[in-house]
Amino acid sequence: MILSLLALGFAGAAAAYLDPGAGGPVGWERRTPDPEIAWRRSIAVGQPGAGLLVRGVRFPAEGEHFFTWDPVLHRTPNRSSRRWGTDRLVRFVLRVVEDFAAANLGAPRVGIGDLSRQRGGPFGPVHFTHQNGLDADVYYPRRDRVERPPTKVSQIDRRLAQDLLDRFVAAGAELVYVGPSTGFTGPRGVVQVVWNHDNHLHVRIRQHLDSRD
Ligand SMILES: [Zn+2]
Repeated sequence: MILSLLALGFAGAAAAYLDPGAGGPVGWERRTPDPEIAWRRSIAVGQPGAGLLVRGVRFPAEGEHFFTWDPVLHRTPNRSSRRWGTDRLVRFVLRVVEDFAAANLGAPRVGIGDLSRQRGGPFGPVHFTHQNGLDADVYYPRRDRVERPPTKVSQIDRRLAQDLLDRFVAAGAELVYVGPSTGFTGPRGVVQVVWNHDNHLHVRIRQHLDSRD
């Protein structure tokens, strides 16, 4: 099963269209407008901590209700090469963001951080997981509405952040990590306190081995 998925993965990766933004020199891709989302059925291979992404979908650089953030270069938008997920993950995050914006008129745009690399795999020293297109980092909204991650817990808009967290849970997230200093809560077994998550939550969706799902 795994072997056939892997074989399919390599064939699919070879046939994937070339993303002009991925791996381009810094600065070049900033002038390249994000094309429409190229939807296609994706496959998450293996585990979030040891896996691959087949036929991933690129998350947009920004939208009416969200911006993306590069946690290494500390700038927006996030690099194209760090914004790949399964089609289900991209759709899931976009839907929660839209619902959040509709329910909280006037709220700041939501900051979206790293998803996975285009073909998944190890994602550098920042992430232990994020390897197969099922994980996304989402920054807590700031009270001052500045579009960058909070640097102190006191900068977080607690009401909006808890609402955003609740919406990811209600939408069916498999797990959400929150930081120990935030005090955010949720259903036991879904919302877990993990160090290094005081400025963002980490959301993961379930893996469906049936690619038609
Ligand atoms: Zn994460």
